[in-house]
Formats: sequence, structure tokens, C-alpha cells
Amino acid sequence: MTTVHSSVIDGARDRTGNDPIFTLNAEARSRAAAGESILNATLGALMDDSGALCTMPTVLETFQRCAARIPSAGYPPIPGIPEFREAVIRDLFDGTSLGEQAVAVATPGGTGAVYAGVVNFLGPDERLLVPECYWGPYRHICDHAGRRVETFPMFDDRGAFDVDEMAAGLERHLVEQGRAMLILNFPCHNPTGYSLDAREWQEVVAAVNRTGARGPVTVMIDAAYMEFGREAARSWISAVPGLLRSATVLVAWTASKSLAQYGARIGALVALHRDEGERTQIRNALGYTCRGTWSNCNHLGQLAVTDLLTEPVLAERVAVERAGLSALLDERIDAFNEYASKAGIPTPRFDAGFFVAMFTPDQERTAAKMRELGVYTVPIPGAVRVAICATPASAMPWLVEALEAGASAGAAV
Ligand code: PLP
Repeated sequence: MTTVHSSVIDGARDRTGNDPIFTLNAEARSRAAAGESILNATLGALMDDSGALCTMPTVLETFQRCAARIPSAGYPPIPGIPEFREAVIRDLFDGTSLGEQAVAVATPGGTGAVYAGVVNFLGPDERLLVPECYWGPYRHICDHAGRRVETFPMFDDRGAFDVDEMAAGLERHLVEQGRAMLILNFPCHNPTGYSLDAREWQEVVAAVNRTGARGPVTVMIDAAYMEFGREAARSWISAVPGLLRSATVLVAWTASKSLAQYGARIGALVALHRDEGERTQIRNALGYTCRGTWSNCNHLGQLAVTDLLTEPVLAERVAVERAGLSALLDERIDAFNEYASKAGIPTPRFDAGFFVAMFTPDQERTAAKMRELGVYTVPIPGAVRVAICATPASAMPWLVEALEAGASAGAAV
């Protein structure tokens, strides 16, 4: 037998090739295919009550129409087509003057936007600050890029967002690494479902400015679920002018959820800064990242999304279709809250979004017990995440019963 000389470098050799969520999803699907009654609340994609992916007819038609146009086959400009970048900025900040302080590049989804932010606003080995519960790929992105993740306790003893812990983290990072970068995935935080209220946003602004007055601070708002945020959908925008007094603000925008186009891989990183010279440097740095990674983003997707955001008739139809999807989600959230509050299920404040979390001291035992009952959730530190986006309202009694059983199993350690 010949010796195998592995050419894979040390840090990469033992990596898992798939996200644990996709592994759990595959297991749930194979049990369902074998005829078991399974509730698969793992993936963050909005499904209808029969388990089919929700899509928007106007979005599909527009993609089809744009695919027939010759330009979609050619290379787009490296940072993205200007009309797309402007349309995203307008989508976020129409009706305010914030667009004048913004630059943007096209990215492959919100994931690409997070990547472009991390590699340009943190140096090698520096730490990204996120709440204790966070979207797992932040860690993948940081590990892969030679950056690290550090967390702060997310909730205080009243169950509110712990702004003091966040502020302490910013201070620590500024002192220890000369810069700080924070990601806030609100509204509709994945994985907990929490949305900051107006007072919490103001406290965040005050804390960021206390540190930002003394050194470089970047705040990324990962707005992946923004369009499903009910009242919180755009309330965060009022915090942006305050943040801009001292910080750089990044917004990770994506069509994955807002246009139900997960597979198109279309997103943008929007960067705001009060200083024009700084904006030029940021624009150049982000363009360089595009060239050095994905080169150009899906041209068809940029053309279609531009039309969808800017043509009034299409935009109106999208708003109506999205309102239908939001209503489906909201019905589920209301049903979940009704059953969960009767059963005393410990969750954070939850009024919008794709996910909710149930706190548990032993998430692995809790999730395992739930799987015995045919209910698939995702274990995360101190909780299990439930994809409400994939759970019909009629299944909420089953879900809540499984959560109760899972909580008992998790407590019996
Ligand atoms: N941020 C959060 C918190 C997410 O949950 C997701 C998707 O699941 C994303 C960003 C980005 O998704 P995509 O790359 O599909 O736009």
C-alpha cells in the first residue's frame, strides 16, 4: 500500500464540508420520505403549508424575462451594475438623505456581504463582536478569512438585549485590537427571533458613539429578514444617522428572503460613512474584494432585481405578493405565541421573523428528544432554534408539545 501524503493544509483538513443545519434537514427529509410523520423546522426558507418553497410569481417572471436578454450573458462590472447598486441603496434609504452617504457593491447574497465586510473592516486575527446567539456562518466566514469571533451575553436578566455587555465588548476590542466591528442581525434576529425596539436602538447608538469617538468602529446591520419585520421592518433606519456620527455603518442586503430568491445568490454590501474620502476608499476596497473572490456577481440576478425594485408596476406587485407571504408567517407566529405562552415555553420576545429559539440548559438533549417525537430543530448554544417559516400554523400544538418534552429532557441533566 502506498502512503497517502495529504496535500490539504492543517487548518482545512478536518473541516466539515456541510453546515450542520443542512445535515439535520437531510435526516428529517429522509425520515419523511420513508413515511414517518416529521415536522422539519430546520431550514430558514419560507415554506407553504404543504412544505413547498414559497416563491413570488412576479419575481420568477422577471427573472425569466431578463434571462432572455443578451446582456445577462455577459460579464457585469466587477462591483455590480450601477443601476442595481443604486436601486438597493434606494430600497433601503428612500425618503431619507442617507443614500448620499452610501456606496454599495453587489455580492453573492447576504453571505457575500458579510464576507466582504469582515475582510475589509477587521485585520488578520482580529475579532468580530456578535451576540452569544448568532448565525453560524459568521464563524465560518471569520475562520476561513483568518479572523475570529467573540461573543457577548445577548440578554440581560429582564430578557432585553444586553446593551451594556455589547458596549463592554466594543470597548475591549478597541483597547485590545485598535478597532471594533459588531454585527447586529436585527430585525428578526436569527436564531432567536428578537427585534430591537426603538429605545434599544437608541441605547446601541449611544454605546457605539462612546467607543467610536475614540477609534474606528464598524457596525454591520445584517438586514436579511428586514422585509418580514412587521413594525420593526424599517425602524432601525432611524438609528443610522446617530451611528454615523462616529462609526462606519454597513448593511448586508439580500434578495434571498425579501424576494424569495435564495438560489439566485444576489445581495449587496452597502457602506455608509460621513466622510467622502473615506467612502471612496471603502468603495475601492470592496471592489478589490469582489475581484479577488467571486469576481462578478450573477448578472441576470442584478438585472432582474433592479427591475423589481425600480419599475413601479413590478414593485407594486412584489409588495402585494410579499404581503401574502408575510401574512402566512404572521399567522404562524401568532399561533406559536398563543400555544407557547400557555405552555410556558421560555423564548425571547418574538413578534416577527423566520425563527424563534427556546432556551434550554442542554440543547443537544433537547433537540434529540424532539427528534424522537419527529420534530427537527437546530441546537444552538443554550437554546434550540425553530424555523417557524417551515412550520404550518396547524402544527403548532405538535411543535409546542415536542418543545415541552425537549425542555424536560434538557433540564434533567
Ligand atoms: N444573515 C442571516 C442572519 C441569515 O440567516 C442569512 C441566511 O440564512 C443570511 C445573512 C444570508 O443569506 P444569503 O447569503 O442567502 O443572502
